[in-house]
Amino acid sequence: CGIVGYIGHREAYPIVIKGLQRLEYRGYDSAGVALYDGSNINLSKTQGKVEDLKNKAEKEISTKGNLGIGHTRWATHGVPNDVNSHPHYSNSGDLVIIHNGIIENYESIKQELLKRGYTFESDTDTEVLVNLIEEVKTKENVKLGKAVQLALNEVVGAYAIAVFDKQKPDEIVVAKLGSPLAIGVGENEFFIASDASPFIEFTNNAIYLQDEEMAIVRLGKEIKLRKIKDDAIT
Ligand code: GLU
Repeated sequence: CGIVGYIGHREAYPIVIKGLQRLEYRGYDSAGVALYDGSNINLSKTQGKVEDLKNKAEKEISTKGNLGIGHTRWATHGVPNDVNSHPHYSNSGDLVIIHNGIIENYESIKQELLKRGYTFESDTDTEVLVNLIEEVKTKENVKLGKAVQLALNEVVGAYAIAVFDKQKPDEIVVAKLGSPLAIGVGENEFFIASDASPFIEFTNNAIYLQDEEMAIVRLGKEIKLRKIKDDAIT
């Protein structure tokens, strides 16, 4: 399983696909990509190989855009199929997430969200997490970074996540506990990946998140690592 993301001035799609191919050694059963084209998120995902994703995505979506995330899945909750593949949208369609790991208390969170009117397309723990982030963001009226922090404090499990908001497409929020996550820092561009292999050709400036750390990866801003548990994020 693996995670890749890009935000900057280049086309994200080729970087994400090539990055996922470099992470293939980690093992996976499905793959997917979400790209922001300047006004919409275009998402494509499939059970199978990254090559299958490439063939599908290039037929069914526009692969244009300078912001993108991609994922290879090793199924833990929900069988390997197209619907359970990542990325996953929140109910509003604004937030989109990729996740490696396991949210152990997803069932009780899901029951709460169902009561609040949320619906779920997949059987994954990950789709629960992205809707929890959305619920917190709406209820507390906070920005994405803060919402991710608050949501992760309700979660038991392991994760490397990357999430972005269609309404604020100048940043990707990332967090890590258990699963690996690295940020590659370039000239007004950032790369995100499970290890440095997807971005090594672009930059040797890599930041490795420690467990319980998160970062708001925003264009024009320096990376500042935050503690998920105790930092004040506004
Ligand atoms: N638990 C998530 C799922 O089953 C993520 C699995 C992974 O690490 O790829 O979809």
